[in-house]
Amino acid sequence: EEGGARKKAKTDLGPRVPFKARIVVDLGFDDLMSENEIKSLTSQLAFTYSANRKAVQPFESVVFTSLEKRTYTRLESIGDAAYRRWHDTEWWEESYERLWTGKLNETAEHKESVVEERKEGEEEGETKTSTPISYQSAAQETVVYLTADSNDELSELREGETYIIGGICDHNRYKNLCLNKSKESGIRSARLPIGTYLAELKTRKVLTVNQTFEILLKWVETRDWKKALEEVVPKRK
Ligand code: SAH
Repeated sequence: EEGGARKKAKTDLGPRVPFKARIVVDLGFDDLMSENEIKSLTSQLAFTYSANRKAVQPFESVVFTSLEKRTYTRLESIGDAAYRRWHDTEWWEESYERLWTGKLNETAEHKESVVEERKEGEEEGETKTSTPISYQSAAQETVVYLTADSNDELSELREGETYIIGGICDHNRYKNLCLNKSKESGIRSARLPIGTYLAELKTRKVLTVNQTFEILLKWVETRDWKKALEEVVPKRK
């Protein structure tokens, strides 16, 4: 019986209700990485994508911004540009600031169709989802840059907010890089609550892009930072 149930759980994921927050991976650090670091970064992006695909409750929107130059070239060259076929991801040449400065072009048109759809749904007494967050612009106040160097600790993830992960593999070379970027953009920053929940680790523990993403996913699933951090952060100090 048990085996059957497990098998079912594996094959039939059921309707996965996404968590309506947006994750941005900021790829605007091309010039700061060696060729090998660019390679590591693009693997981390693939792990990130695949984690969202497998997640119990995936993020509704995953956007890769500032895709250009070397990271773009690398992605184009691997697996026959496999990244182009990653479902439910968006790729922007523009920086994440487009979230609040730009016109998200598809927005108006798409919003209308979603509103219509919702009206129909309501007649049938069924609540359809509201406009997907991927088609909404974001006020700067709803955007948080994640970085180990922040003075603020992340306490929870909220639907409707955008969380930016720095798309850089720098082996700890550039302290305050993303913190300074968040200040320049006029947005909040926050670090994962590692020091609070994993007593044996120092507060400023720098993780990879996909580790950070996986912790956020695990938090959404469990609403428990300790569990989320323990599952993803490597045990050794
Ligand atoms: N020097 C970079 C570190 C890159 S690590 C910086 O200035 O942040 C890649 C990304 O993972 C970071 O930009 C950040 O978004 C995320 N990250 C890694 N460790 C983190 C932590 N402890 N808290 C929050 N975000 C973290």
